[in-house]
Amino acid sequence: MSADAPRLFDVEQVRQDFPILHQEVNGHPLVYLDNAATTQKPQCVIDALVEYYSQYNSNVHRGAHALSDRATAAFEGARRTVAKALNSPSPKQLIWTRGTTEAINLIAQCWARVHLREGDEILVSMLEHHSNIVPWQLAAQAAGAKVKPIPLNEAGEIDLDALREMVSEKTRLISVAHVSNALGSVNPIDRICALARDVGAISVVDGAQGIAHYEVDVQALGCDFYAFSGHKIFGPTGIGALWGRTELLDAMPPYQGGGEMIESVSFDGTTFNGLPYKFEAGTPDIAGAIGLAAAFDYLNQFSREAIQAHEAALLDHCCTRMAGIDGLRRVGNAQHSAAVFSFLVDGTHPADIGMLLDQQGIAIRTGHHCAQPLMSGWSIPGTARASFSLYNTLEEIDVLYEALSKVLTLLR
Ligand code: PLP
Repeated sequence: MSADAPRLFDVEQVRQDFPILHQEVNGHPLVYLDNAATTQKPQCVIDALVEYYSQYNSNVHRGAHALSDRATAAFEGARRTVAKALNSPSPKQLIWTRGTTEAINLIAQCWARVHLREGDEILVSMLEHHSNIVPWQLAAQAAGAKVKPIPLNEAGEIDLDALREMVSEKTRLISVAHVSNALGSVNPIDRICALARDVGAISVVDGAQGIAHYEVDVQALGCDFYAFSGHKIFGPTGIGALWGRTELLDAMPPYQGGGEMIESVSFDGTTFNGLPYKFEAGTPDIAGAIGLAAAFDYLNQFSREAIQAHEAALLDHCCTRMAGIDGLRRVGNAQHSAAVFSFLVDGTHPADIGMLLDQQGIAIRTGHHCAQPLMSGWSIPGTARASFSLYNTLEEIDVLYEALSKVLTLLR
């Protein structure tokens, strides 16, 4: 085997890398199926954080001493690792943010607020997370522009014909999720970006869920911006990134003022630093960036195809088992779906299901999943959602099935 051969994907060995999984919750072995909310961290990510804080904690870019040099090298190395993972032409196009939410707000404030005019339109789909709706509403309100929803079909897929009808010379920006957190639908990002380009609009991809399941190539997708959160891809909370096209980023004003983002400051006028620092005011989340790079390094050991095949098998097994439960219906059934299973059961409320499953050590999420327009559009209060990751097993789905069957006899 060559030194570069991927590590064999063996779920039992993978589970050994995640210490949190090996515990009991409410007297039962933990079954963690809330990965769309946040993923667990492998030991190497935890170690990277501990190593930074215990061996070279120091501020970056400004210290003239060894620890600061080491921290700066690790921090900028992390940027290179993450930029390379996205196939970014340059690491300067990768701006650290607190996560997807901050990344989208950055574009809304620094691009949309500058460019939007009265009557302009921003298109977002009906399945978007609030983070990909509200920042655009704020920017649109200030300009007298409109945020218009792109409809879905019954399976929970973006209706591309409807989108083709909607795009016009008024369209300034189209922003869609790579993968829906509520339904699992994988959106045809390359086609949507091409539609935006056709009318001279900017394309934004909310990659909060996409990054967790797929290898992202921003050049192949053809997007102008890609936003994601580290905690959804086995990295720490509080760190994420915005990738953007250089011409757009260069032309945008800074997001926040402070240290690091300036070239020189005087009361006669301040000049700004270049990319990416222009958008990174203040001391960044140094440990977070280093931890996030460790998470990418962890994933890069495996073939992404092997992980995707495992997750597809999990979803398939879940669909088969759940089909055996009377009155259960999957919400969203996109042809191309990530390992997310949203469901409702006749005569029960999702919150009760979640609470009773928790008593059996099973963590799922219930509610509107920060996608209220989707839920109200489909006239449902919310869903129960099991979302899977690389460390989940077919046996855990069997445990979910047994527990759910028990729960439903109590509830009905
Ligand atoms: N977009 C989607 C599709 C998400 O699933 C989430 C989080 O659940 C977000 C945006 C917001 O991510 P964060 O809270 O990490 O900024």
